Amino acid sequence: MVQILDGKAMALQIKDEIANEVRALTAQGHRAPHLAAVIVGTDGASQTYVANKEKSSHEVGFTSSVYRMPESTTEAQLLETIEFLNNDPDIDGFIVQLPLPKHINEQKVINAISPDKDVDGFTPINIGRMVLGEECFVPATPMGICTLLKRYGIETAGKHCVVIGRSNIVGTPAANLLSRKGFDCTVTMCHSKTRNLAELTRQADILVVAIGKPEFVTADMVKEGATVIDVGIHRIPDESKKSGYRIIGDVKHSEVDAKCSWTTPVPGGVGPLTIVSLLQNTLQAYKRMSN
Ligand code: NAP
Repeated sequence: MVQILDGKAMALQIKDEIANEVRALTAQGHRAPHLAAVIVGTDGASQTYVANKEKSSHEVGFTSSVYRMPESTTEAQLLETIEFLNNDPDIDGFIVQLPLPKHINEQKVINAISPDKDVDGFTPINIGRMVLGEECFVPATPMGICTLLKRYGIETAGKHCVVIGRSNIVGTPAANLLSRKGFDCTVTMCHSKTRNLAELTRQADILVVAIGKPEFVTADMVKEGATVIDVGIHRIPDESKKSGYRIIGDVKHSEVDAKCSWTTPVPGGVGPLTIVSLLQNTLQAYKRMSN
């Protein structure tokens, strides 16, 4: 019988823990942690992500600010805003919502973020520290995956973990973290050039799917009793919904879940933990700033 890794419930619990900590800090006369977000353009999914981050920040008692910039923003203007945020002592951490418009060099923008405020953990300095096992800001989505596995007590040591996807923000850091001491998985990382993908995924005790293709993973690709972590988020037009769309993942849950021991629902799995990880990183940045 499949069991659910309930990211929504876990996120509520962790948010409660953060809120208690923030209440204690402000009761002692300290200011609240401050998370800022920069969004360029009007992409619907990005607007929703930023709105959710803002809402969650308020729920835990953080100060939150959003810098909304038009699609026509130049790279130089964006870099200027980042410089401002880097130097504002009242802001503990900030994120630049991706993707950016095509005329802006994403890596150049990420490189401009101060590693001390990089609560998304995307800068080369934080990625380097993560790979070396040093204290750092871990990218929010892989951190959320790790939190789910840890808090649900899923056994990972010696397990074969197959990660589909090697993006800088999900697949690569997830593979790195899960192979390290503490998780101790044996990790296979797959990508678009991988041969015989299904043969590899069928060997996975833990399957992390971050491929960005709706319902790509089907039952024949999954081992009986596997733990399946679905990172994918896709909006599919659905007139029966008030919003006009429904959310599905990278895994075909209607047929895969019956084979799993544990699985993450979409929505309500990895997504809520991603936002919570961002809050945890911001609290960490705040504490570092105060010391
Ligand atoms: P991405 O940058 O598009 O990366 C997709 C990866 O999948 C790439 O490494 C690609 O390989 C690999 N891939 C593509 N086709 C493949 C195939 N046929 N076989 C094997 N590998 C294949 O995506 P991402 O940013 O990592 O995001 C993945 C998904 O997670 C998306 O649906 C995204 O919306 C979602 N997401 C969710 C959260 C959350 O909070 N839940 C956060 C971030 C992202 P190559 O490297 O060879 O191209």
